Amino acid sequence: MESRQYEEVHAPPTEFFREVNNRILELGQMFGLRDVTTLELICECGDGKCTTRLSVPRATYDQLRTTAGRHLVACGHERAGTVVARTNGYVVVAD
Ligand SMILES: [Zn+2]
Repeated sequence: MESRQYEEVHAPPTEFFREVNNRILELGQMFGLRDVTTLELICECGDGKCTTRLSVPRATYDQLRTTAGRHLVACGHERAGTVVARTNGYVVVAD
């Protein structure tokens, strides 16, 4: 699977926050928050000190986490890469 292949590449800091975000999603499901539509996630800009919280629609994150090379960052935290989507709450960048 594409996402699996991506995870096997050595893990930069963004991958750590992706893991955290996936756990947030899993925990929400575990506690019966299946119907939750907005997730409180953490910026994946790669700055180890950045803990900016982002409110992201559940559907957006579900789509994003299954696409290799996509990262969710706060506005103004864009790294080198292509901006795929920009809202007033967060930016989606592609490697
Ligand atoms: Zn950030």
